[in-house]
Amino acid sequence: MSEREMCLFCKIADKKIPCKMVYEDDSVFAIEDINPKAPVHLLVIPKRHIESLANLNQEDESIIGQLGHLLSIVSILACKRGLHDGGFRTVMNSGAGAGQSVFHLHLHLLGGRSFQWPPG
Ligand code: 5GP
Ligand code: ZN
Repeated sequence: MSEREMCLFCKIADKKIPCKMVYEDDSVFAIEDINPKAPVHLLVIPKRHIESLANLNQEDESIIGQLGHLLSIVSILACKRGLHDGGFRTVMNSGAGAGQSVFHLHLHLLGGRSFQWPPG
């Protein structure tokens, strides 16, 4: 079985598992987190399978460009959810030690409540 067939977010990207999709284009999609940790909790995910920021191929400029695009989508989604004024938190966990549980790179967009710093 290929990595794409085994990975949860690849299966969601390929529409093999249902989700609440709130945005989609050629390279990125965004879904409602199934177990939200804030009133707004979206996951913004590149369609391409990359395990984490620790697995970026620095020579592959197309993925660097896709991550820049991903950040611009985060800003648009935060605005659409009314989070620009009150503030929002973006989190990317890289590796199990940092709390990553799905090993397909994704950015959490959290908002609608206050957040502590530093994070736990
Ligand atoms: P991580 O722990 O890897 O940073 O984040 C993974 C996130 O994926 C968690 O917040 C978890 O709630 C969410 N998640 C896990 N399984 C599913 C699922 O099947 N559907 C959706 N929409 N979110 C999921
Ligand atoms: Zn994947």
